[in-house]
Amino acid sequence: MSFDLSRRLAERRAADLYRQRPLLQSPQGPQVVVDGQPLLAFCSNDYLGLANHPQVIEAWRSGAERWGVGGGASHLVVGHSGPHHALEEALAELTGRPRALLFSTGYMANLGAVTALVGQGDSVLQDRLNHASLLDAGLLSGARFSRYLHNDPVSLASRLQKATGDALVVTDGVFSMDGDVADLPALAAVANSRGAWLMVDDAHGFGTLGATGGGIVEHFGLGLDEVPVLVGTLGKGFGTSGAFVAGSADLIDTLVQFARPYIYTTSQPPALACATLKSLELLRSESWRREHLHTLIQQFRRGALERGLHLMDSFTPIQPIVVGSSARAMKLSRLLRERGLLVTAIRPPTVPAGSARLRVTLSAAHSSAQVQQLLDGLAECQALLEPEDE
Ligand code: PMP
Repeated sequence: MSFDLSRRLAERRAADLYRQRPLLQSPQGPQVVVDGQPLLAFCSNDYLGLANHPQVIEAWRSGAERWGVGGGASHLVVGHSGPHHALEEALAELTGRPRALLFSTGYMANLGAVTALVGQGDSVLQDRLNHASLLDAGLLSGARFSRYLHNDPVSLASRLQKATGDALVVTDGVFSMDGDVADLPALAAVANSRGAWLMVDDAHGFGTLGATGGGIVEHFGLGLDEVPVLVGTLGKGFGTSGAFVAGSADLIDTLVQFARPYIYTTSQPPALACATLKSLELLRSESWRREHLHTLIQQFRRGALERGLHLMDSFTPIQPIVVGSSARAMKLSRLLRERGLLVTAIRPPTVPAGSARLRVTLSAAHSSAQVQQLLDGLAECQALLEPEDE
């Protein structure tokens, strides 16, 4: 017996599923340098253009001077410092929840929240298209795991009838690979009527949705009763890194006691929390970023329809173009790249088989002229795809 890694890798290549890491040689932004080539990028999650903002950089720099660079210990030992605490208070305020708890990554926040809340004998119900970290969390929890049809409260209701123990309903707020928005009022009503809790991972909604960037719960005006467990990540609209769970004081105390990915890891660098405090301030106060972004989204959708490009039902900055096979998606991405445009192909297993796509994402840092360039490039490259690429 031996590990036949080369066979696995060869199979992955043969199926057009082999992953490679583009080497970024510039800061994040619309104009990047990748593998030595200057490109106009439409694939980061830096939706508000804060990842390389001078004031955020300055906050990080002065944070490092004041607090050093390392968290030094886990939160429960001696790693929970002033900036972490201040950021948690600011995030509680942003979300309108009594408290918030900072995690090092969104992946960990999801693992931590789900596994602290449900276990053997309980039930976890997830949208079929939830992010991998939520699905992994459900499996790890040991709770009875069931997936309901995408964004379908009726399917959820029928699965909830079979639930045992405490039942946690889990959904993305904005679906990360499709860009559509969960029907939270309906899902919350179903969950509530069965005594289940609703957990929403709004990684892609914070900063982009809601009048003050408070995400999908602000968009729909939903409070703690409807959405008791709210997750946000800081590496997207906020432009920095990390994540949080917001909810009641009891929820946060429970996570501090039982969420293993919170307990058994070093706190994030305090200077990073200083940077996020600044980006949070910009995210809330500079509403022109959200307004500009939504103007670009409308421009993109109008232009794509005019050019016969097949869009998904999304009003968010995630505007995927589904092309079908992985080979076709890779080819379209390559043709765009030859024209100076970077849009990553997303393939199974990240998305369901047969639905490989170009995941176009827009940012407030893009200009209208850049979106025009993307539209022209997409139309030109789409026309170059052979029918046999279908
Ligand atoms: N949830 C969703 C919906 C995401 O899209 C992502 C990241 N792509 C995560 C969680 C994980 O967040 P992080 O990158 O901070 O680990």
